[in-house]
Amino acid sequence: MHSAADTTWTAQVVSAGRKYTAETAPVVNPARTGEIVGTYALAGSRIVDEVVRNAQAAAAVWGPLSGAERGRLLHAAADTLEQDMASRAELLTREQGKVLWESRLDVGGAPALLRYYAGVAPAVDEETVVRDARGTTVIRRLPMGPTVVIVPWNYPVYLCMMALAPALAAGNPVIVKPSEFAPLALTETLRLLASTLPDGVVNVVPGLGSEAGAALVSHPGVRKVLFTGGTESGRAVLRGAARNITSVSLELGGNDPAIVLDTAAVDDRLIREIRRSVYTCAGQVCFNIKRLYVQRGVYDEFVDAFRQAVDEIVVGDGLDPASTIGPLNNERQLASVTALLEATRGAGARVDVLGRAADDADWDQGYFMLPSVVTGLPHDSALVSREQFGPTVPVVPFDDVEDAVRMANDTEYGLAASVWSEDTEHALAVGRGIAAGSVFVNSHRVGSSDMTMPFGGMKHSGLGRNHGMWAIDECSELQALSHRPDTSAFPGPPVR
Ligand code: NDP
Repeated sequence: MHSAADTTWTAQVVSAGRKYTAETAPVVNPARTGEIVGTYALAGSRIVDEVVRNAQAAAAVWGPLSGAERGRLLHAAADTLEQDMASRAELLTREQGKVLWESRLDVGGAPALLRYYAGVAPAVDEETVVRDARGTTVIRRLPMGPTVVIVPWNYPVYLCMMALAPALAAGNPVIVKPSEFAPLALTETLRLLASTLPDGVVNVVPGLGSEAGAALVSHPGVRKVLFTGGTESGRAVLRGAARNITSVSLELGGNDPAIVLDTAAVDDRLIREIRRSVYTCAGQVCFNIKRLYVQRGVYDEFVDAFRQAVDEIVVGDGLDPASTIGPLNNERQLASVTALLEATRGAGARVDVLGRAADDADWDQGYFMLPSVVTGLPHDSALVSREQFGPTVPVVPFDDVEDAVRMANDTEYGLAASVWSEDTEHALAVGRGIAAGSVFVNSHRVGSSDMTMPFGGMKHSGLGRNHGMWAIDECSELQALSHRPDTSAFPGPPVR
């Protein structure tokens, strides 16, 4: 076993055991920007062409296997991914920034998701047979073919596996394009995975979204794109995929509201749950709480207790056990959240900057930002209407529940939402009024949604659904194989 810090990591192209040469670019540690953690290949359209050909060849091997056979191979692959997870988690913290428990969750999700879909794989072959007076129709699933998975930098391993595992179980070879900001732990995970499966079934094409990503989504040999990232990039992916009428599923951004009703018990549990949901990964999770609406009866009590809890947060290097959150992942993200907070201050809101640095001496070396709580701002301010993706949250009071639901829905996004109350029935009823793919009562974090529940966004938060058989259907073609000998009952005049 080796430590992530002892090794120079490179995210190379992984495809059918072949070697590809490309220029490389550095991956910087966001907690120590002078430290290069490794490099990644800058793949372009020539490499994309070759990798797609490898995936097409692999489709002829992987697709015809039975679901049960694919399931057996995926179980064995999960065994391999369970080895040496600690070093990949440490590597992930060094390139991504988040604290170690989060990186362990991210890396540990890979074998867990693979195992889940290994179990699902035999069901892919189940056919629905419809018999009626006119004959029989068999409805079956077919693999789509080479499937591109494009991944963001916040939870790169888990989010990749959430798309890749069902795609593989459904019989599709996969080509992954990691984010330029966190390609190392993911590529290492996929290199291991690829080594356990037939050549070309799992491929990795590191590089920039505008080059490798754009070349993949518009490639005629690609039949499906599973994209996770920002809404603007999602639009570009749709435009690129339009060229070959390639099927696209999108998991995009969110601006998740949480509604705290005055029937909620504003106790330690609630405050800590909401704190966790806002500040996990320094606020850089698609379904973190991004806006808080608190009913007037508990507003003051909530804001006081919440500020105190947020003041306990310690910001520092994710490898430092004293840190409770890490830095932002990259300079662009730090600049974007800083600008949003400055505009909010300029508009007269109260911004309470809380928490403390784990190490004052290292502060200027990383993309660090202390957590903040923002009050006294109108519902139409930018911090409320935009996805901040950083360690800050606006808290807006409301009187009538109808107003809270109206404000919660007054957004282009619709990923997730939550309602907090001791009166569960009322909270569930309020949840029915919210336009989001997932609505939780009294929780709102990783684990609130699991494989038994569809996950995905409404409106500009996405297209399609993940988890369970829903994810299998996103990357399968449905065929109706029909034998209806008596055509006399079909519409139109009889054939003479
Ligand atoms: P981006 O959209 O910038 O990047 C996501 C991925 O897309 C990266 O690999 C990027 O490559 C690639 N990409 C960018 N442009 C294109 C293009 N034109 N064609 C093909 N690929 C492209 O998102 P971030 O990485 O900044 O992640 C943050 C965003 O992702 C937030 O909005 C967040 O809400 C959302 N997200 C959504 C999730 C969900 O499940 N709904 C989960 C996690 C994040 P590169 O970076 O290398 O240039």
